[in-house]
Amino acid sequence: MWIKQPRCVKCNKEIKEPLLRCPFCEGLVTVPAIEGPSISKINLTSMWSLYNFLPKFKNPISLAEGNTPLLQLTKDSDLKELGLKLEFRNPTGTFRDRACSLILSDAYQRKYEKIVGASTGSFSISLSAYAAKAGIESINVIPHNLELSKIEQMKLYGSEVIEKGEFVNDAISAAEKIAKNEKAYSATPEKNLLTIEGQKTISLEIVMQKENIETILVPRGSGSLVYSIYRGLEDAYASGWIRKFPKLYTVSLEKTKTAYLAESLDSKQPFLLREVEELLKKTEGKEIEIKASVMIEEALNIAKKEGLFIEPASASVIAAARRLIKNNEIEPTNSVAILTGSGFNALNIFASQLRGKKKIVWGLSESSTTKFEILNLIAEEKADYGYSIWESLGRESMHIQAIYQHLSELESKGLITVKEEKAKRKHYILTRKGIETLQKMRDLIDYI
Ligand SMILES: [Zn+2]
Repeated sequence: MWIKQPRCVKCNKEIKEPLLRCPFCEGLVTVPAIEGPSISKINLTSMWSLYNFLPKFKNPISLAEGNTPLLQLTKDSDLKELGLKLEFRNPTGTFRDRACSLILSDAYQRKYEKIVGASTGSFSISLSAYAAKAGIESINVIPHNLELSKIEQMKLYGSEVIEKGEFVNDAISAAEKIAKNEKAYSATPEKNLLTIEGQKTISLEIVMQKENIETILVPRGSGSLVYSIYRGLEDAYASGWIRKFPKLYTVSLEKTKTAYLAESLDSKQPFLLREVEELLKKTEGKEIEIKASVMIEEALNIAKKEGLFIEPASASVIAAARRLIKNNEIEPTNSVAILTGSGFNALNIFASQLRGKKKIVWGLSESSTTKFEILNLIAEEKADYGYSIWESLGRESMHIQAIYQHLSELESKGLITVKEEKAKRKHYILTRKGIETLQKMRDLIDYI
């Protein structure tokens, strides 16, 4: 399957299985740079047009991934001519489709009947779709509290979804156990070398689409994307497509409690942290930290000004570019930001911003969402009577009469009850039924 045999960079052993870590010494396994044909010999129609750089399969599993557009920003004067690689134009709306195409091609060739993977969402959705295409059963292990819209997409492709632990690392360990027990193919992106070899086609395409690139900006996450970009540049360099490596910048989220606002930005413990630090140094790039609020603001700005609906992690990359351009550290005309995913996977976050609410429950009506917010306020003892609840929810968002109406409905359903009446104010507490209902709702939804 391999065009060039992967090797461990530490012990130099050849590794046949598609493993990202050496089974003997835990060193990084990497495919040596591949020398391909000249750019003019390639007719780019999908990722597979770059087959000279990819492992060989008899039956590639493809949904026409890759060959995503490279668009230049035109309206925002500070960012004018910044190049955007629209990875959310892939079949399931994420760059992960490139990895899943290779991984499922491999699983199919090896005649696996089952595949198991773990991620914070986009990869799992992609895995589900490609497994469906390959006719292979899929199991996705995900941490608790993922957005319902993501889970529904996995199920829609027929995947079995198992929730495990608070962080993706917990889900990864669980997925590995399942793969072992059920003799299933292990597809977790941080463990599989094909992830890197698939995702590297992004930078090969960028080099084909735009000349003289000096800067590439990438969301950091586990480090697998930026490392893939570097691998693609190695192949481009070996093939004579570029004369020097562009500077690589990674973007991460400033540490807050809302870390999982932005999938593919953060990871409790980045798997490729050391490798990423090394290649940032090597290419003279660096890591940029962006605040969550800035990232959301940028996403809304790009949607309004440029007509692109992107996920928060992608918006963070544009926000980072804006900062670097302002400080004269990079030039927009020779820079490319990689937009990894679609805003559709983060609808809850945007909906809550647009409706001026702190929380939103996707799939619930606006009125049920308000009831949910009221239950939360009472449960957390932040507010327990009509006026204080109205203030907490933001007085401009609704009339106070609506709050009293909600309280009376919640009371008649037996979810809340009057604790005491002081100065004509009814102070509420949750009933046992109210507590149980709230807990069930919190279990179900992406509770930020
Ligand atoms: Zn080794």
